[in-house]
Amino acid sequence: LTRTASEEMPHMSEDIIEAKVREICQELVLSPEVLKEVCDCLQEEINKGLAKDSHPEATVKCFPTYVRELPNGKEEGRFLALDLGGTNFRVLLIEFSSKCRMDSKIYAVPQPIMVGPGDGLFDHIAECLASFIKERNLGNELLPLGFTFSFPCKQEGLTKARLAQWTKGFKCEGVEGRDVVELLKQAIARRGDVQIKICAVLNDTTGTLMSCAWKNRNCRIGLIVGTGTNACYMEKLEKVELWDEVIDDPPQIFVSRSVVINTEWGAFGDNGCLDFVRTEYDNNIDSESVNPGKQLYEKMISGMYMGEIARQVLVRLVSEGLLFGGFASDILLEKGSFFTKYISEIESDKSGDFNNCRAILEELGFNDATDADCANVRHVCECVSRRAANLTAAGVSVLLNRIGEESVTVAVDGSVYRFHPHFHNLMVEQISQLVKPGIKFDLMLSEDGSGRGAALVAAVASRCAAMR
Ligand code: BGC
Ligand code: MG
Repeated sequence: LTRTASEEMPHMSEDIIEAKVREICQELVLSPEVLKEVCDCLQEEINKGLAKDSHPEATVKCFPTYVRELPNGKEEGRFLALDLGGTNFRVLLIEFSSKCRMDSKIYAVPQPIMVGPGDGLFDHIAECLASFIKERNLGNELLPLGFTFSFPCKQEGLTKARLAQWTKGFKCEGVEGRDVVELLKQAIARRGDVQIKICAVLNDTTGTLMSCAWKNRNCRIGLIVGTGTNACYMEKLEKVELWDEVIDDPPQIFVSRSVVINTEWGAFGDNGCLDFVRTEYDNNIDSESVNPGKQLYEKMISGMYMGEIARQVLVRLVSEGLLFGGFASDILLEKGSFFTKYISEIESDKSGDFNNCRAILEELGFNDATDADCANVRHVCECVSRRAANLTAAGVSVLLNRIGEESVTVAVDGSVYRFHPHFHNLMVEQISQLVKPGIKFDLMLSEDGSGRGAALVAAVASRCAAMR
């Protein structure tokens, strides 16, 4: 163990230590007033994103998606889907009748491919798709395919999406500014052994919304709190100035006077408007990331960063002599060593029992942590996850207030929401505080939105095409 504190530590009682830990963590606690201010800022940024004049400079882009119709539950047929943009890359085969059946396979995206040339990434995707088709004997059908590509894209049609910028640790040369459907088609053509029909490209938030709306008529918002964070919602066309620019390019999914807007709220704060809530830990995380200055709201919330925020706080506490007697382990001092899933596990301990916490601390090289250490570590985790839940809740409240309908279901997916033991409850509690009186809402876990949603968009597209 390494002593990181600069001086010999004066002896402090556990009570004093606990009080000091709480004082240091206070910075991570957002008051109702601060959260209200965050809401007001986001509301303003969304308006900027949607308005033609301010859109080019806007940080929260609010891209129209060309999805203007939700599924009606009667979709039918077999579809392929690709899901890229979280922890895993997946290929899926999905069949809708009255039920939804699916078969899928996960493929790794090796780190060198995540940051290598763009062609390498798309060749890899095409190869996985080809092997899936071969294994499942799907070679002699021309199946429609939906492509969930979970990065900020300017949609120029239901099958055309230009990558605005990479996020979440991806950084492949030669893809930003390009249409990812075209890149996928080219990679498939380079192989020459696969025949598919790409019917739709969509964001995971859109997929999540569609997947939930398939059976739930009130669904208007799709939310992801996973590796990254983002939300989409149904907006009235007259509020989307950008819509004028959207060419009526079939196959557009239409009928209603609304359109799904992909907010790309992960970039909220990139113009400095969230600096009043950001901390030294947030600054460190940002400057050590592959995309400094970008996705600042996402970096305070999502699973790719949450564990690292907690680690930075823990290191600070050790250096002030408030944890582990002032001694840090080598593992704890390593960037990325405190996984986000540790937060969920530690907070899953029953109160007064530190079983998971102790096991994790042992993995990190602390074999004789005291109960007081465990309680303080847990407190750090709670502050970090509660801040994330509150910030997410602020975002959802803004969307609920914009939609203004009496009763709205929010479809949610992502590892943080799914696995953290209290995230759902924390969000519900906070949204209730921030939403206009009279608005009822619920948060619904959307099982496998990115996969099933891609197939649904493809299905709705074919239904709308048939109606024309
Ligand atoms: C991306 C979004 C995506 C979100 C959740 C963000 O980093 O920019 O497009 O929806 O992660 O996967
Ligand atoms: Mg996903």
